[in-house]
Parts: sequence; C-alpha cells; structure tokens
Amino acid sequence: MELRLDSPVQYVPRVGPRMAKLLDKLGIRTVENLLYYVPFRYDDFSLVSPIARVQPGETVTISGTIHSIVNLLTKSGKRMQQAVVNDETGKLTVIWFNQPFLIRVLPIGTSVRLAGKIDWFGHKVIMSSPVYEISKTQSLHTSRLVPIYSETDGVTSKWLRGRIADVLEKVSSQLVEHLPDTTKQTYELMDLQKAVTSVHFPPSKKKADEARRRLAFDELLILQARAYLLRQRWQQQKQSYPISIPTDDVQRFITSLPFELTNDQQNSLKEIFDDLIKPTPMNRLLVGDVGSGKTVVAAIAMYAAFGNGLQSVLLAPTQILAQQHYETITKLLGPLGIDVGLVTGERIENEAHSPILIGTHALLSEGVNFQKLGLVVIDEQHRFGVEQRAKLSEQNTQGKTPHLLTMTATPIPRTVARILFGNLDLSVLNQMPKGRIKVKTWVVPNKKREAAYEWITKQINQTGGQAFVICPFIEESETLATVKAVKTEYKKLKAIFAKHTIGLLHGRMKPKEKTTALDRFRTQKDAILLTTPVVEVGIDIPNAIVMLIEAADRFGLAQLHQLRGRVGRGSIGSFCLLFTEAQDEGTLARLKTMETIYSGPQLAEVDLKLRGPGKLFGTRQHGVTELTIASFFDTELIKQTQEALKSLLTFPLLRQKAEKGTIQSLAAD
Ligand code: ADP
Ligand code: MG
Repeated sequence: MELRLDSPVQYVPRVGPRMAKLLDKLGIRTVENLLYYVPFRYDDFSLVSPIARVQPGETVTISGTIHSIVNLLTKSGKRMQQAVVNDETGKLTVIWFNQPFLIRVLPIGTSVRLAGKIDWFGHKVIMSSPVYEISKTQSLHTSRLVPIYSETDGVTSKWLRGRIADVLEKVSSQLVEHLPDTTKQTYELMDLQKAVTSVHFPPSKKKADEARRRLAFDELLILQARAYLLRQRWQQQKQSYPISIPTDDVQRFITSLPFELTNDQQNSLKEIFDDLIKPTPMNRLLVGDVGSGKTVVAAIAMYAAFGNGLQSVLLAPTQILAQQHYETITKLLGPLGIDVGLVTGERIENEAHSPILIGTHALLSEGVNFQKLGLVVIDEQHRFGVEQRAKLSEQNTQGKTPHLLTMTATPIPRTVARILFGNLDLSVLNQMPKGRIKVKTWVVPNKKREAAYEWITKQINQTGGQAFVICPFIEESETLATVKAVKTEYKKLKAIFAKHTIGLLHGRMKPKEKTTALDRFRTQKDAILLTTPVVEVGIDIPNAIVMLIEAADRFGLAQLHQLRGRVGRGSIGSFCLLFTEAQDEGTLARLKTMETIYSGPQLAEVDLKLRGPGKLFGTRQHGVTELTIASFFDTELIKQTQEALKSLLTFPLLRQKAEKGTIQSLAAD
C-alpha cells in the first residue's frame, strides 16, 4: 500500500498499532503529523575525527571496527560494557553502562560509527556512552547534527529519527507548496519540502534555523488564516440564547464575595455581559497572568446564565483542575442553592440536571444531554479545538450555539493576541488582586542547599504554611526515568524533613491517587508536596507558601513563573527557591531575572532573547502555548505573516490548508 500524508501513522513501516498508540500521546496520528513533529534541539556530532586526534572534552564522531567488547562489573557494582575500537590511525576504549545487549549488537569485527564525548577515565582517554550506528547504514544518529525530539515512554529520539527519515524519503514529495514564489522571495523562505526535510536532518545549524523559520512562518500564517475564516463563519450563521443580566442578583453575589473585584475583573465582566446579551454567540478570550483571578469572573458569568434558566459548562484541561474548579465553584454558588455537577473520566457528581457542569474532555464524550446550554467556559484554550466546540453545539438542544469564554494564562502580548486570534474578542486582567504580596524569589546555588532546607523547615514551623517541591524532569513528557527520579527524591526529602509528612504527585499516578495526594495537601495533612511539573496549570492552594524548584535551569522562565504562581495566593508572605547545579554565568543570570521580574509576558520575552525561539517554544509546554514551532514573541515574524496574509487569503492552496488545519498544532487535540 502506498503511504500518503494522511495515512494513519500505524502503516509506517516498523510502527504498527502498538507504537501508533504511543505516538498518539505525542499528538502524532498521521504520516504528516510525524513529518511535522519537529525536534526541539540538535546534538552536534558533525565533527568527525580520526581516533589518533581525539581530545578529552570534545564531542566527536569516530568511525572504526570493534576490536573487542566485554561486559564488566565496576567496583561500585555497576554493569559496564567496554569495547576497543580501532581505525587506521589508532585505537580507543569505549564504555557504556547497563547495556549488556551491546555485546550482541556490536560483535567483534562490526564496522561502526560512534558519537559522543571524549573523557578521562582515570588516566585513560575514553569515549563514554556514545551513540552507535552500523557503518553501512545511512548516517542518522552520528556524524551530523542529530535531531532530539520530545519523547514519551517507549518512543525514543533514536527510534523517531529512523521512522522520520524513512517517511521523508517516501512521502516528502507529496507535500504541496502552499505559498506562491513571490511570497517566498519577499520573505526569503525555504521551499516547503526542503524545510520539512532540513528541520529534521539539517546540513548545518544555519539551514536548521532557516527551515524552522519557514515552518514557523507557515504556522503563524495558517493560524491567522484560520482565525479569519472562523470569524467569517461565526458571524454568518450562529445563533445563541441571549442572556440578560440579572443586575441586582449579580451585584448581591459580587458583594457577598470575600474580596473586592479588581478593576480589570469588573471591566472584563462588563465586556462579557455586553456580549452575552446578544443573540449571536460570544467568542471571547480572557487573558490573565496566573493568580489574576479568572475563575471568579467565569463563575459570575455562569451565575448570570443560571439566572436566565440556562445551563453552563466549565471545561478544564485536566481531571485535577476540573475537580478543583468544582470545589471552588461549589463554594461560591452552592450557598445560593445552585447545584454544581462534575464529570471527569474518573468521577461523576450530580451530572443529570445541574445547571452548572464542570468537567474535562470526558464531558464531551460521555454523551451528556445538555439542558439549554447557554455558556461554555474553557480554562486554558489549547486543549480544546474547533471540533470540540462544534460538538458542544451539536449536543445542545434546539441547535443553539453556546456563548464561549476561553481563559488563558499564556503570556501573549496583547497586540500579538489581536493579530493571531483575530476570531476572538479579548479581555485582559493586567492587575493582580489587592493585597497580593510578591513571591520573594532566590536562586539557590548548590552550596546553600542545606541552609535552604533548614530555612524552609523554619518557615513551615513558624507559619503553618506548606511547601511544594518540584522535581527535576528531563523531557516535557513524563518518562519512567522521571518517576524514578521523583521516588529517589522522595526518600531524600523524608530524611531532610523528618518531622513533616510529605505527599507525592506525578503524572503517571492513577487519577484516584492523584486526587488523594492533592486532597491530602489541600487539607493540610501533608506539609510538603513533592511533584513533577503536573501542578503547573492552575492549582490553587492558598496555604502553600514555599515553591522549591529543583534543576530550575531546565525550565523556561515563563514556565518557572507559572510554577511560582502556585504560591503567594493567600495573605502570608511566600517564597520561591530556584535550586540549580548549573555554574555558568549565563544560566545563573537567566535564572536571576526571576528575582526581579514578576510579569509572565516580560519573563517570556527575556527568555526569548536569551535562549532563542527554538529552545523556548519548541518544547510543547502544557498550558503555555499552542504554537509548536513559532513563538508568540517573535514579533518580527508575526508582522511579516500578518502582512503576507493580506495578499494570500484568496490563494487557494493556502486557503485549503487553513480549512483543513493540517499543521499539527492547529489540529484540535
Ligand atoms: P487564575 O487567574 O490563575 O485562574 P484564580 O482564579 O485561581 O487565578 O484566582 C487565584 C486566587 O485569587 C483564588 O484564591 C481567588 O479566590 C483569589 N481572588 C480572585 N479574585 C480576587 C480579588 N479580586 N481579590 C482577592 N483575591 C482574589
Ligand atoms: Mg486558573
């Protein structure tokens, strides 16, 4: 069978149904998705060296023959594989750890290419844990810039490379250029086929950047084209239930809140109310930094819908968050006699007739029958696509389209949001609620680690506050290695904080276990919660006052800011400690900006300047962005795409792509 761009990925040779399931977790469903799964960085193995010339400290590729290879046990009991490799200039010892199968894969006499770091091992120069590749195969893993992808359990970069190279060869000729030559010339853009090939296997760093720029251009352009088409359609056909605002009731409710709304909250509400009253559906984006108080705005809007005898739905990206929203909203609206329901894959409460339903994706698939659905609120837009929205309208009675309020903490500059999400109206919460104390932030180098632990213990004891400890993680997805790291850390912390109870939360726990861990922390049974960055989006625990982040250098600043936003929600002074083992000035300086800058968008911008777009947004950070290749802060490119779009809207090939939304990040997932 001929492989096509839209073929399911399982038909790619050596993928099959089992691997296809794993790839699905990475958002890869079709052959085309696989081609657009761009690496987030490259290992530079392009320096090919004769063995006689290698130097400790260098990262190189050598090419030679396996002269000997044995399994050994080191003094510390580790299993080590030691090989001697020679070429015409000399020989080199190569070691690996815990890979006993190498003896079979690389028997004596095999011609191999090995890429990795040259090191000292005692007094000997060796190559340590290199990547290997049989010489007679195509160079994918050595002697070039080698792509590194975001991984998940059972899907490694090495495996992906092989599949992608194969698919590139078979189907890249099917990629249809959707830009006219003039546009490519004006904006100095690479051809599409070349860009897709080069982003995976670039001949040089410069070509890699050019390829990425071309694909980023497409991503931004298609996003805008799509927004334009959606807006057109939205305005043409849709009808919603107009929601008149029960002013007195709403005012009474607002007065009953334990705090005063900020001006921004009030203005946003006014903008929302002005939309709700119309018989055409609202489509509004509420942007507000973490902790700016978006939830209560949504609750008030839902209350207004309730007053009109209409149902509201609040969709959250995760089960944990849905549950939290359920509790918050129940606390707010329960006393007014309003039934609140919850629907997640794990737990269902009062589902049948609740006028206010909170839930996850499950809400869409469980075939819930809506009762005059008037308003849908989506927390963190990126997880819900156009298709889900359509589905909600379909499930609605009388074919009415619900008003739509999307909330996000993504640090998008306002001007950029207006360009990229032209189909949405915008409300912004710039102000933080009154009385918020800045989360005092310190970068903690290794030598101050002990002192920091003591200091945290003191804080907990004195204030009765709680602490988050965020554990290091390697890739954005949680792998078994991450889980192991968390467990080791757990033991360590138990010894350090011997007098306190510690909870554990990571992405691979069962939903029930997650809920239990979080509940224990919320009800203060545990003083400390050790977790992977799953807490990133939206967890609200006002009694948490310390946020300790291990290996902080591995995070983007915007992401650190999101994590930091988990504390400082109550009235007690809160602290964020950024632990790092990094010693280089650049990294420390980057982290130190967290000590002085407290605005998400500003931090994201600083990060872009310091690390470049590829590094910052190439990794799919949950809750931060729905762009996978481009960056919200690449103002230059955004302007160029905005300008280019004007002459391209009628260009049929681009229009087709926008209609389909073929680029992965734009597909509803
Ligand atoms: P986010 O915008 O990040 O979703 P939340 O809605 O979770 O923020 O609100 C964060 C915290 O601030 C909550 O505990 C909420 O009750 C509180 N809050 C919201 N608005 C105000 C306000 N105007 N004054 C004081 N506290 C507020
Ligand atoms: Mg929130």
